[in-house]
Amino acid sequence: MIFTGTLEITFNKPLNNEMVNDIVKLIEFLNRDYLKRGTRKAEEAASIKEYKINSNVLIIKIETGSKVRPDEASLRIKNVLASNLGPKYKIGIRNLVLKDVKVIMESKISISLKLPFVKNITVEDGKNLIELSELHEDDLRKPVFLRLIRLIEEKEKRAKWGGKAEHWTLIKSSRIKIEKPISEDPNKILEDIGWIKRMSIGQWLFTPPLTHLINALKKLFLDEVVKPLGFQEAIFPKIYPLEVGLKTGHLKGVINSMMFASLPKSYDISEYEELIDYMYVMDEIEPEELQKYLKPPTYFLCFAQCEPFYWFFENEIVDDSILPVKWYDMSGPSYRWEAGGIHGIERVIEFHRIEVVWLGKPEQVIDVRNKLLEGYEKFMDQVLDLEWRMAWVTPWFYEQSGTVEEEEREININVPGTIDFEAWLPYRGPREDNKNWLEIGNISIHGTKFTEPFKVKHNKGETLWTGCSGFGTERWLIALLAQKGFDIDNWPKKFVDYVKETPFPQSIS
Ligand code: ATP
Ligand code: ZN
Ligand code: MG
Ligand code: MG
Ligand code: MG
Repeated sequence: MIFTGTLEITFNKPLNNEMVNDIVKLIEFLNRDYLKRGTRKAEEAASIKEYKINSNVLIIKIETGSKVRPDEASLRIKNVLASNLGPKYKIGIRNLVLKDVKVIMESKISISLKLPFVKNITVEDGKNLIELSELHEDDLRKPVFLRLIRLIEEKEKRAKWGGKAEHWTLIKSSRIKIEKPISEDPNKILEDIGWIKRMSIGQWLFTPPLTHLINALKKLFLDEVVKPLGFQEAIFPKIYPLEVGLKTGHLKGVINSMMFASLPKSYDISEYEELIDYMYVMDEIEPEELQKYLKPPTYFLCFAQCEPFYWFFENEIVDDSILPVKWYDMSGPSYRWEAGGIHGIERVIEFHRIEVVWLGKPEQVIDVRNKLLEGYEKFMDQVLDLEWRMAWVTPWFYEQSGTVEEEEREININVPGTIDFEAWLPYRGPREDNKNWLEIGNISIHGTKFTEPFKVKHNKGETLWTGCSGFGTERWLIALLAQKGFDIDNWPKKFVDYVKETPFPQSIS
């Protein structure tokens, strides 16, 4: 991505020969040194391509790179001119304007013409070209402009990333390999035996016997992995104001799979008379009619389940002595619109999970993650005896360079990113085919992805990171049943102990 533009700097009096000589030298200095500061490669720096002087106006053609961008370059040029010419000639800069700004992209990206400063998008020599409107000095300093530039950069990065949401690199596979794969789909069995009943697409009622198994599994996970590490239970809200989703980034990243909630327009029941009368007589409710009585959505339903944790610490100064903070929440469901991907209870629009969250200094956050990782491994190997694998899945926004070659390098897991746990589902087909594996859980380190927008501060000014891990209860149970079947004699011993610990529901005892 390259920016080109014409910078017009208007002085408060005409420039004489002596001043022009100085300007020539200052431009040399800018090109040789000042416009390169803070960069490593030529394509990151800015440079002055040509310039001319008309009485009191200096007209400069600039080209800027990925680090010293048009705003930064323009202000650096202004500073150098003002601080050198000002005191010497008693001359001031009256006006600064950047014209004909073009952003030349390497990839094809689309961007809304409704955005401020975006004038036009064209293609020239097969390259995408974004034309921006005239930028005055205060525009260049506006956060809106800086965010626009960041958006364009991110879009290009994403385009280079190949349109994929994440890159997948295997870290480890279980030693355990299932010898006698079961070909039946446990989702189907659960429905056939009446343990679950579908209420609407991707939403189920779990009857007591299945709830019993799920509770045993949750308790086992908490006892084996979560509690020994000192995590404490909290209760998080399950519908969140839109502002929270703006800060976590979910609204910008996954809006297509989020669900929203609206408040009624009025609390006065008499205002609903027409609608109520219609239902009374017709015995039906038209969603379009109902919508007329509702305000636009102001909440989104729990998506990642850890959103309230970051919100809780918003604008707080966290004392070192309480770090790392280690909590978990299992107080309610998460909601996701999964469109065509819905299947059984393993991919639903309403699911349950134990969400483990932590906050601390980078080394603390990494340490907690590593201990959790050990716990998960032990849980999968020794407690549940599963065939599993784990992978490093770099979401595109964590990848610094955005190049696909990066995939080849040795992975360093002590940086922000995600580890997925997957279980083979034999009913789907051979283990060699990736589509026959199911993500059952994951652990992420976010770096400052959340502490920055929520302005979470450390009392001694140190950097704070967060981490989270989601244990999808339906998914773990399906993995277990898909690999072990429904014969209790084939279930892992500890799980059976937990199942037996509380009285069995009538139907399966
Ligand atoms: P997938 O890649 O399968 O779509 P995800 O990466 O979107 O899953 P996360 O956002 O990482 O899922 O959520 C954490 C955990 O929550 C998952 O590992 C999984 O156990 C569970 N989970 C996510 N989506 C669903 C769903 N639609 N139905 C049931 N469980 C889910
Ligand atoms: Zn989370
Ligand atoms: Mg998903
Ligand atoms: Mg995933
Ligand atoms: Mg995931």
